[in-house]
Amino acid sequence: MEEAAESSVLAIDLGGTRIRAAHISPDLTVSHRVAALTNDEAGVDAVVSRICEIAAEVLGAARAAGLPEPIGVGISAPGPLDRERGIVIEAPNLAGWRDVPLASRVADHVKLPTFLERDTNVAAQCEWRYGAARGSRDAIYITVSTGIGGGIIADGRPLFGADGTAGEVGHITVELDGPLCGDGQPGHVEAIASGTGIARAAREVLAAGGAPRLAASLAGAEPDARSVSEAADAGDPACLAILDHAWEALGALGASLVNLLNPEVIVLGGGIAVHRPEVIERFRDGIARRAFEASARRVRVAMAKHGDDVSLIGSLPIVIDRIHRSAAARSATGGVPAGDPAPLQRRTTT
Ligand SMILES: [Zn+2]
Repeated sequence: MEEAAESSVLAIDLGGTRIRAAHISPDLTVSHRVAALTNDEAGVDAVVSRICEIAAEVLGAARAAGLPEPIGVGISAPGPLDRERGIVIEAPNLAGWRDVPLASRVADHVKLPTFLERDTNVAAQCEWRYGAARGSRDAIYITVSTGIGGGIIADGRPLFGADGTAGEVGHITVELDGPLCGDGQPGHVEAIASGTGIARAAREVLAAGGAPRLAASLAGAEPDARSVSEAADAGDPACLAILDHAWEALGALGASLVNLLNPEVIVLGGGIAVHRPEVIERFRDGIARRAFEASARRVRVAMAKHGDDVSLIGSLPIVIDRIHRSAAARSATGGVPAGDPAPLQRRTTT
């Protein structure tokens, strides 16, 4: 768990707005970064091609610089996805993405074994192996941003669940009759405390003629978490109430997770958690008030150490582990992989 990595990997982060890629060295140095707009309106094939080109560009630059050859490629992508087969099943923020065999497409292009993992699990691995949750056996990573997501380390290993969807903490119900979430269900914490949820609450207040300070600052533009925060900081009572409600919902989420999983540490990341220092205090306060006393006293709540790079650096241990595991499975079964399948590298018959 705490050993230094011995290999380099090529990391790719597929986000709704941006695609990023970089070479990750064993000492966690992130180098030869390349980024491009995702531009998903161009269609699935165009985005996949761009990912392949960016991966090849990073690889070429790293080779030219004489860096160690990556042993594989790790792709961080939004879920739900099939991590074993390397397929993006559905990406809510990417138009048209359904059952896209992303890992094999990249593997074919760069000729390296390629693995797909949900973005929040990549981030959780990063903070658990090298960041704020290092050394723990039970940890949770939560990102509070446009949405709310998470990854769980339970009893010293990542928790995936039967279908790989474990850790979707943003879709835990905190209000039975609460606002509708993007998935159509009422009262999920993401519908209340994410950037999307805060913006929705602000639109409702504005439509009812409230939040005059926010209305004046927007001058007809749509509210977002930043504008609501700025109006709250300027003393707008309606915006203060929206944020207060959001942080209370986050605290309820924290307490539920503490009672469910008894973690040693919960790591908070994501733009909202980073930019609003009161979030971590309110999160701790919610746990202290709502969770079992012993487990609330035990849990440490910390900010993520690796910021935006969690979704790149986390691919280092994931790729190394999965390559070692598939090699072990092949040797145990006389060449036929069992369990975690062989890396998705197709041999060309030339
Ligand atoms: Zn939901």
